[in-house]
Amino acid sequence: MTQAMKDVAIVGAGPAGLCLAVELAALGLTVAVIDRAPRAALAEPADDGREIALTHASRRRLEAAGIWSRIAEAHVAPIRAAQLYDGDATRPLTLAEVDATAVRPLGQFVANRHLRRAAFEAARADSRIELIAGTGVTALETATDSRVLLREDGERLAARLVVAADGRLSAMRRQAGVPAQLEDTGRHVLVCRMAHEHAHDQVTWSWFGYRRALALLPLSGRTASVVMTVTPDEAEWLHSLDAGAFSATVSDFYRHRLGDMQRVGDLHGYPLWIGYAERLHAERLALIGDAAIGLHPATAHGFNVGLASVERLVGEIARGQRQGRDIGDADVLAAYDRAHRQATRPLWLASRAVVGLYNDTRPPARLMRRAALGLARRVTPLRWGLEHYLLSDSRRATSPRP
Ligand SMILES: Cc1cc2nc3c(=O)[nH]c(=O)nc-3n(C[C@H](O)[C@H](O)[C@H](O)COP(=O)(O)OP(=O)(O)OC[C@H]3O[C@@H](n4cnc5c(N)ncnc54)[C@H](O)[C@@H]3O)c2cc1C
Repeated sequence: MTQAMKDVAIVGAGPAGLCLAVELAALGLTVAVIDRAPRAALAEPADDGREIALTHASRRRLEAAGIWSRIAEAHVAPIRAAQLYDGDATRPLTLAEVDATAVRPLGQFVANRHLRRAAFEAARADSRIELIAGTGVTALETATDSRVLLREDGERLAARLVVAADGRLSAMRRQAGVPAQLEDTGRHVLVCRMAHEHAHDQVTWSWFGYRRALALLPLSGRTASVVMTVTPDEAEWLHSLDAGAFSATVSDFYRHRLGDMQRVGDLHGYPLWIGYAERLHAERLALIGDAAIGLHPATAHGFNVGLASVERLVGEIARGQRQGRDIGDADVLAAYDRAHRQATRPLWLASRAVVGLYNDTRPPARLMRRAALGLARRVTPLRWGLEHYLLSDSRRATSPRP
């Protein structure tokens, strides 16, 4: 059976797909969001260990969409400074810092599950959005003035525009015949919440050691999220440790900088794929979020870039509406494609270069890393570039508001 045609059908009720649904409904469009996960799992997402570093631009976007107000203040942890360590060096490069009196922090951490829950609630509250859960999409057909999604439950869903928001290994992207530069980095990212002895002072740090890359994300009180990029063998070994042995091992990895650490959450692991779609649109179809660009988590920018894709697509659709164009108009989608690729390509290339350099433990790469950090310490514009790359628009937040 085919349902009544929608203006837009979004495949994937992840944070990017749901944010897009809310913004498109605000333009007066009818929207369907379809996800394979059961409704209960979308409404009350389980902890996936991800703590998302949000820039101020992302926060403003979520505020405007009525999503931010649905996140309890207790679930938001401020970032006061960001530091980078290389190899055995004990002196970090401080990328950016605000003092304790600053009104605005550099950015903030929110657990992915709180973001997802808030976005789901905002979508559920809008009568123009239909949420279809518990069934995936298996195929995509082309009709005269629409595209038709074939669902796993046998139903069909027609829409004038289909948006692929189904994550970095997007099946919709493949269905639409869009090639992507997909890379298996051969590493796993392990994340886990830990309690620790000494205060972290809301400082986030990344440590690019010679065997593994580590990050520490300050949460509330004396808890932090540890993010460890390791080989598959090391990931398997860490998963096999009991809680006590795991806590002792992680305290050693982090050189007891925060004293002894105790595991207080589950250990979550992600095989590390990164990807960049060669085109961000096809006939009556657009790609957003990780389906468009799947960045390395070390950039802490995947969702920030996903929200930027939402902003650009909504902007082009609103412009098209004012010009009386169809929502699936090829020029509207091509304008989105151009704008988002232009804005993100440099970040994609830079992140791949940095990750490549830090995955390489041979002496020439070590020297280059040390030289790059030494230069960044002395050359202000280079440091600003690094700050911008890691923290987006946070420079504007370094002084207190008048
Ligand atoms: C460890 C880790 C840390 C991170 N830290 C940060 C950070 O600090 N800052 C930041 O900005 N980003 C961060 N990210 C990235 C961020 O989590 C992602 O960019 C973001 O979650 C992507 O959202 P999305 O909606 O595009 O895709 P997803 O969250 O992957 O959602 C895709 C949805 O599509 C559904 N789906 C898939 N296939 C189908 C199908 N065929 N039919 C129907 N539904 C389907 C899935 O069920 C899922 O709900 C991190 C990622 C990781 C792994």
